[in-house]
Amino acid sequence: MKLLETLTQTPSVPGREARIRAVIEAYVTKHKLVDELRTDAMGSLIGIRKPRPKGKAKNPPLKVMLAAHMDQIGFLVSYISAEGFVRVNPVGGFDTRNLFARRVRVCTASGDLPAVMNPAGRPIHIASADEKSKVPEITDFFLDLGLSGDEVKEKVKIGDMVVLDGPFSEVGNYVVSQCLDNRVGCWAVIRTLEMLKHHNCEIHAAWTVQEEVGLRGAIPASFSIEPDIGISCDTTLCCKTPGVPDEQRVTVPGDGVCLKVMDSSTIADIGLLEDLEAVAAKKGIKCQRGVLPRGGQDGAAIQRSRGGVRTAVFACPVKYIHTITEMSHKTDLESYPALLSAYLETL
Ligand SMILES: [Zn+2]
Repeated sequence: MKLLETLTQTPSVPGREARIRAVIEAYVTKHKLVDELRTDAMGSLIGIRKPRPKGKAKNPPLKVMLAAHMDQIGFLVSYISAEGFVRVNPVGGFDTRNLFARRVRVCTASGDLPAVMNPAGRPIHIASADEKSKVPEITDFFLDLGLSGDEVKEKVKIGDMVVLDGPFSEVGNYVVSQCLDNRVGCWAVIRTLEMLKHHNCEIHAAWTVQEEVGLRGAIPASFSIEPDIGISCDTTLCCKTPGVPDEQRVTVPGDGVCLKVMDSSTIADIGLLEDLEAVAAKKGIKCQRGVLPRGGQDGAAIQRSRGGVRTAVFACPVKYIHTITEMSHKTDLESYPALLSAYLETL
């Protein structure tokens, strides 16, 4: 949990993944989880774990790519007014209804600055009925750093990253935090490498960049890795909550990691999915199938790279996804690296 907490509390939005990459790089290096480690031109971190066979090595080994995107949804500074109010451009999909009265962190070259985020307009006491019912556009929001225009302009640059600020905590049987999407996937890949004992396959663990703006980092990463099998490691919706019809729940919390059947970017290889389910059944690891009508993940980029790659999609169920109160059930977290490592040991 400590590692997952550190990952969720390290800001990194699309195109600004240096901080989270440094955390992951330091961890996998310290614990000797990979044999080779490189950062590609776009910033994805790629570690190679050579086969560690029990007996004689298979020749040549199957090449398996694990892809977990490192970026979280956030903003880049787009404008600073004379009074020091900062406007931002979103990188990733926000529901503006979740952006009222938020504490945010403005990450500058000289350090992080706290700020608050609100939509432009009048508070409830003096707002018109019309204003009260309007859902603001993302461009209506601004940041207040509590500093003068000159002070803000001295410290903040156009292009600096901004993230929502929220703590990591445990609530009942769940963990709650911002950016469980997709620090859970990053964590699961690390835990998998830690749990693996003997395996014949060659594992290429890619912590990718810029997924939230269209799977951009996974495209060159899969092109260079040229895998035989791809496994996207991400999160997915869990809407088993009031106000959502049960047929739209996507996943059930506590039923184990979701093996995605399809979303709007990928139809998973059904043979791989069945192999994974067979391993889960044999080892007594919980997992569930899920279909997401809209949404994508890095698997789409892997599947369509070069001549095509057989691809499966792991996704941890997350309630209230893309808010700062994302919730994941501990059973689903545990089953994720348990199943992934058990499966890799069979290849
Ligand atoms: Zn994601």
